[in-house]
Amino acid sequence: MRVVRKRFGQHFLAPEWIEKVIRAIDPKSDEVFIEIGPGRGALTLPLAARASRVTAYEIDRDLAAELREAAIPNLTVVEGDFLERATESAMLAAQSQPVRVAGNLPYNVASPIMFRLLELFDAGSALKDATLMVQREVADRLVAAPGGKEYGVLSVLIQHAARVEMVLKLPPGAFRPPPKVNSALVALRFHAPDPPVRNRAVFDAIVQSVFTRRRKTLANALLAYGGRPDLKPSEALSSAELDGNRRPETLSIVEFARLADAYTLR
Ligand code: SAM
Repeated sequence: MRVVRKRFGQHFLAPEWIEKVIRAIDPKSDEVFIEIGPGRGALTLPLAARASRVTAYEIDRDLAAELREAAIPNLTVVEGDFLERATESAMLAAQSQPVRVAGNLPYNVASPIMFRLLELFDAGSALKDATLMVQREVADRLVAAPGGKEYGVLSVLIQHAARVEMVLKLPPGAFRPPPKVNSALVALRFHAPDPPVRNRAVFDAIVQSVFTRRRKTLANALLAYGGRPDLKPSEALSSAELDGNRRPETLSIVEFARLADAYTLR
């Protein structure tokens, strides 16, 4: 058997878990899928058997070649890094109907991949949802509510544009070789940003800025946000009707949106 390439986060799904994951994804015969990291095809083959078309992005040249050799008529294998290859134009050109995404993600790049999916959704690609295997700790952050220690940048930025659900929990033994951590399958159902914000970049920057100072009060955490030197945190907080003594992690997404809008020039 060929070597496992650790740098690509290769932990292959064990056979007894494949059907459970596929059932959670629930592919339909008229649906088009993008798969991230098909590996040896554990999910790819059942997806291609049930869906209308699958485009799979695989960074490992040997695995991509093996999958291509299988010559599955409705499967396109793209060799390369999903983060580089899945551009807006390539996706838009290739897809004429809503696209579903699936993937047992390499854990070291799971967050950048999810943010990339949000960007693609924002740019108008017809992404519908993404069912992704991630580290359990990342899944906990994705579904976290305000107030807890898991609630942070990932929770706010992803939940702002997707309804997130944890659909399956998996132990290390569900993979070969087993990772050191537990895993979970999450479903991200994309939607227009809710609530809408005047400027998404300002929203993202404020969320990132205050969570790097999550132990401070909101008023103090905002001092480090450099986006509007002309606006004092106290003024922004009062126009957003927020108490500056609160901790950043207690703010709901609606409150972050109000804060971002207070910092956005009309
Ligand atoms: N889907 C297979 C399974 O469930 O058995 C493999 C999952 S394994 C956790 C992750 C896969 O993603 C590996 O095949 C790895 O080579 C591939 N990969 C890692 N980084 C990638 C990237 N940036 N773009 C595309 N594929 C990547």
